Amino acid sequence: MSNQPRISSLVVVGAGIVGASVAYHAARAGAAVTLVDAGQPGGGVTTNSFAWIGSAGVRTGAAAELRVAATDEYRRLQGELPGLPVTWAGSLSWRREGSAPEAGPGEEIIDGAAVAALEPNLRQAPDWAVWAAGDGGVDPVGAIDRMIAAARDLGARVQLDAPVTAVRRDATGRVVGVETATDSISGDAVVLAAGVATADLAAPLGVEVPVAPSPATLFRFRAPAGLVGRIVTTEDFDLRQIADDRLIAAADSPERTLAAIRSTFRGADGVDLLSARVGARPMPADGEPIIGPVAEAPGLYVAVMHAAVTLGAAVGRLVAQELIEGTDEPLLAGCRLDRF
Ligand SMILES: Cc1cc2nc3c(=O)[nH]c(=O)nc-3n(C[C@H](O)[C@H](O)[C@H](O)COP(=O)(O)OP(=O)(O)OC[C@H]3O[C@@H](n4cnc5c(N)ncnc54)[C@H](O)[C@@H]3O)c2cc1C
Repeated sequence: MSNQPRISSLVVVGAGIVGASVAYHAARAGAAVTLVDAGQPGGGVTTNSFAWIGSAGVRTGAAAELRVAATDEYRRLQGELPGLPVTWAGSLSWRREGSAPEAGPGEEIIDGAAVAALEPNLRQAPDWAVWAAGDGGVDPVGAIDRMIAAARDLGARVQLDAPVTAVRRDATGRVVGVETATDSISGDAVVLAAGVATADLAAPLGVEVPVAPSPATLFRFRAPAGLVGRIVTTEDFDLRQIADDRLIAAADSPERTLAAIRSTFRGADGVDLLSARVGARPMPADGEPIIGPVAEAPGLYVAVMHAAVTLGAAVGRLVAQELIEGTDEPLLAGCRLDRF
């Protein structure tokens, strides 16, 4: 079913994981794409993401089916883009208190012996853990670079260090492009994928996008090779090893996180904190993605969400499909702005 006119040229504002994916998929679908960013690709919150691709266990919410599709979409994208830096090691989650929950889609509850086999450096395996074998992690800036390189190969233009100052409309009120300090860029449609800046870009058009910054901290640690095998998530941290000598954690306090790593894993005494960076996650008011055309501003399309790294591959393909083929994608049905 068609819900909007098809477009053949597109301006994408924001070269984070969302904008890069939309730009790549739209270029692949044959659109003339211009991707514009205020800075460098991935320089927004994506650079400080834990970047867990985790859709297992999602059972509720407007975007539940979209989230369930997320890992398969990354596998599809890996097939299209050799070298996309995604690794599939699975995730293990447990809490010290309480009994094991029910397993959701893509999950199973495993006992302590199975946990110890998956994570041999644990000092003491928990009684149970939720094992999501299909989960993975991505180098998010590496993935952005790979998608942008592919988009360029498909003819996309990329303008960096070029903050968009306004979204441009014609006399009929239709959105027809954007302004930067030095340029006026035209397109049949404009996709706002500017993370936390999306609301400010839409506001002058009389469009309210209810998204606010939600701070979270990423810690980077020096660590011995092979210390942590899976994505491990407990009440203390989300933790994963991203290189032979590097761990990252999404957590609250550097001291508590370091102490928890050392008490959880054998051989972790040499783990050292390298950096702590706070990122502003774009958090929609109800926690669900805001994706779709904007009725009050024909030609404008918004794509802003939390857990955008997980959703990135799926959202890029579906947004491109809606814009270029004029479809109304069922997986995005619960994500529209007009629900607010
Ligand atoms: C500690 C931490 C852990 C996280 N863990 C996970 C996780 O495990 N899994 C997961 O899925 N998500 C996770 N997230 C959230 C995830 O990082 C974000 O959802 C995602 O990166 C948002 O991507 P984005 O493309 O929407 O925004 P951004 O990466 O912020 O990209 C927006 C881009 O828009 C550009 N921009 C802004 N204003 C303008 C303008 N006026 N003109 C032109 N360009 C502009 C910016 O420069 C930026 O490059 C985590 C976040 C943090 C901080």
